[in-house]
Amino acid sequence: MRSLLILIAFIISLPSSAQQLVFLGNLQDAGAPQFNCDKSCCLIERPNEYVASIGVYSEDEAFLFDATPDFTHQARFLQKQSKTKLSGVFLTHAHMGHYTGLMHIGREASNERSLAVYAMPRMADFLENNGPWDQLVQLNNIEVKRLSGPENLETISVTPIQVPHRDEYSETVGYLIKGVNKTAFYLPDIDKWNVWDQSIIELIQSIDYAIIDGTFLAEGEIERPMSEIPHPFISETIALLESLPKTEKNKVWFTHFNHTNPVRDKNHPIRVKLENEGYHFAEFAKEISLN
Ligand SMILES: [Zn+2]
Ligand SMILES: [Zn+2]
Ligand SMILES: [Zn+2]
Repeated sequence: MRSLLILIAFIISLPSSAQQLVFLGNLQDAGAPQFNCDKSCCLIERPNEYVASIGVYSEDEAFLFDATPDFTHQARFLQKQSKTKLSGVFLTHAHMGHYTGLMHIGREASNERSLAVYAMPRMADFLENNGPWDQLVQLNNIEVKRLSGPENLETISVTPIQVPHRDEYSETVGYLIKGVNKTAFYLPDIDKWNVWDQSIIELIQSIDYAIIDGTFLAEGEIERPMSEIPHPFISETIALLESLPKTEKNKVWFTHFNHTNPVRDKNHPIRVKLENEGYHFAEFAKEISLN
């Protein structure tokens, strides 16, 4: 009898549900098709391509990372998967593809009550002191939560890690997301790996999943000077990670693809080759476990 009680107590103490990370988008801020692009990248429309975002959920909580222009589809899908209400949104920075989705929760839209929006101090100031975002604060549609270190929630802990990026209106962060057993790092935007004071290689070695900036495949992909909009090219990232074993390359998920990036095509030979080497590419609705 006693052992039966111990067994029941053990079962009750187990985590109540699976904890999943779901990919909700994989495109750069402006998505696709892009205004005034007449090239083949924007003539072929692909279903379920949204701006880069992820969700992390269990039976108890559901968090969205970035509020993109596609927020409505992404938050609805996250709530459908988690069967729970959106618990909050973590913002990475004040570039248009990463926070303007907040428009969907204001008075003109769903008129949310005190949705938790986690942001770094400059990002929080930006929302509180600039219209139309300050109205979301004044009307209590959102409750801005200032980040200064790890945020320990019921089932996950989220730590912002600052990175160099074009910080006109806010600082830029990636998020280290510690789940029940596994840790993921989400970093849609960074200028270049070599201007960061941390090593992406060491970071990858210390975690389970690295969902990172794959905006452009290589130099020459767009006509304007690419140094004006720096990102680590996928070609540079794979060269940097070349000596790592396949088990480490397997942790990498590229995301935040520019409309011009050929890896948007699942059958593109370069993408297929990189997948054979162990790399992954973010895709809407794909899930990985944090258990
Ligand atoms: Zn971006
Ligand atoms: Zn295009
Ligand atoms: Zn950006």
